[in-house]
Amino acid sequence: MDGLVVFETHCSVGELVCPDCSTVSRRVHSRYERHLAELPAAGRRVVGRLIVRRFFCDAPGCPRRTLVEQVECLTTRYARAGPGVKG
Ligand SMILES: [Zn+2]
Repeated sequence: MDGLVVFETHCSVGELVCPDCSTVSRRVHSRYERHLAELPAAGRRVVGRLIVRRFFCDAPGCPRRTLVEQVECLTTRYARAGPGVKG
């Protein structure tokens, strides 16, 4: 495990909008882990552990019962905080 860095992160949204019925959902169904690819960083191996939440869609008649957080919120965050970005 020497030189192995593990970071844990999650999307910080408190609600999701159902893409099928546009209803806002705040009721968390469950959560699970996803492992991100190992990234070499400064000579170390970095392993990302991403907590992904699943929400209920409570709208009556909506064919979609659950919603899953999208990982895009993380890639967007990394893109903003990435090296080479100034100001
Ligand atoms: Zn829905």
